[in-house]
Amino acid sequence: MKIISTPKELKEYLQNSQQSIGFVPTMGALHEGHISLIKKARKENEIVVVSIFLNPTQFLKGEDLEKYPKKDEADKQICKLSGVDVLFFPHAKDMYTEDEVGLLAPKIRGFVLEGASRPSHFNGVLTVVMKLFNIVNPTNAYFGKKDAQQLNLISLMVKQMFMSVNIVPVDTARESDGLAMSSRNIYLSQQERKEALKIPASLYQAGKMISQKILDTNTIITKMREILTPLEISYVEILNRDFELVRHVEIGNTVILVEAKVGETRLLDNIWL
Ligand code: AMP
Repeated sequence: MKIISTPKELKEYLQNSQQSIGFVPTMGALHEGHISLIKKARKENEIVVVSIFLNPTQFLKGEDLEKYPKKDEADKQICKLSGVDVLFFPHAKDMYTEDEVGLLAPKIRGFVLEGASRPSHFNGVLTVVMKLFNIVNPTNAYFGKKDAQQLNLISLMVKQMFMSVNIVPVDTARESDGLAMSSRNIYLSQQERKEALKIPASLYQAGKMISQKILDTNTIITKMREILTPLEISYVEILNRDFELVRHVEIGNTVILVEAKVGETRLLDNIWL
């Protein structure tokens, strides 16, 4: 596995390649969720590139950029063992200058849900993903459905900017008790870890209601909120796959999303039905 730390070197390394490139962008502290993206990329491409970059522009002031978990050595081992060909590990100073051109998230879809409490977060996400795509020039890029709004906005960017990369959504990897894997789970105390299970439980209940033909979104959301109590809920929403609010669930075209705070840790989860 080759480890490269500057955009220039990576561009040069990949530029004459005629092979398909599968790309998995991450912020490190890799877990089984990331590994499932890497494995899918490994199966579907000749070259696999993973980036580990804690992108400062997607963190707002006061968020956990400084204390975001770092596991550089373990991450390198995981990438090596997962068959990654190139690990891109850039420094912020090589990705950004003082006075930057940036991308703006769409005014509606970028500022609801996650974007409502974190305005400018998705500007940072889209800007860094655009930069990374321009450096790697991937054939396929792999993103987790767990970050459903991020996946939706990146797909929108690719379409609206007429980019040629193929975006591949990957199912959410979960712990055996149902908690969605996340680099932030290590912030949870033992008690909080238990409380966090209310999140997958609320989604499971929503799925159960829908299988019983209860399709009214208000009824489902009310029940989910009950299950999530006393967690601090940022949002519980039921949307269609275009990320528009709906009043009735249409099976095959629905995403149910939850964000709740457990202690000081914000956790996201969703199901696609
Ligand atoms: P992050 O390092 O949190 O920026 O995540 C990098 C990529 O891994 C994103 O596309 C995430 O959606 C994806 N990811 C994170 N957690 C999971 C999970 N539990 N299952 C599947 N993909 C995930």
